[in-house]
Amino acid sequence: MCRQDRVGRSTQFCDWHWFREVSKNRMKSADFATALKELANRQEYRCVYTGELLLPAVNMSLDHILPASRFPHLVSDIENVQWVTARINWMKGDYTHDEFVNQCQQIAAKFCDATPVTTPPFAEDT
Ligand SMILES: [Zn+2]
Repeated sequence: MCRQDRVGRSTQFCDWHWFREVSKNRMKSADFATALKELANRQEYRCVYTGELLLPAVNMSLDHILPASRFPHLVSDIENVQWVTARINWMKGDYTHDEFVNQCQQIAAKFCDATPVTTPPFAEDT
């Protein structure tokens, strides 16, 4: 591995080799490294779901829109991948995009529209 242009906190990979490693590990071929970098550029290095800034080798993770575990024939399909944070990818698990969004909606419906739980006891005092 070259030691130039190291990214994030990684001490092992330059930017180029990091994309190659992700391509190999996640798409079973190093051939997608350039396409994956172009995809990151099109996404402006932002998580599809949260908009958080993505940093290679720090918080950046390649997600299969239709999960590879359930759609193995799409594991190497560049149209089936997107960049997200590692935490979001872990949360999404083997859900499809639609299933994940639906699950988030259910959670939001339960918790986000509710009256705030903590209201200061003196809030109504003037
Ligand atoms: Zn390198």
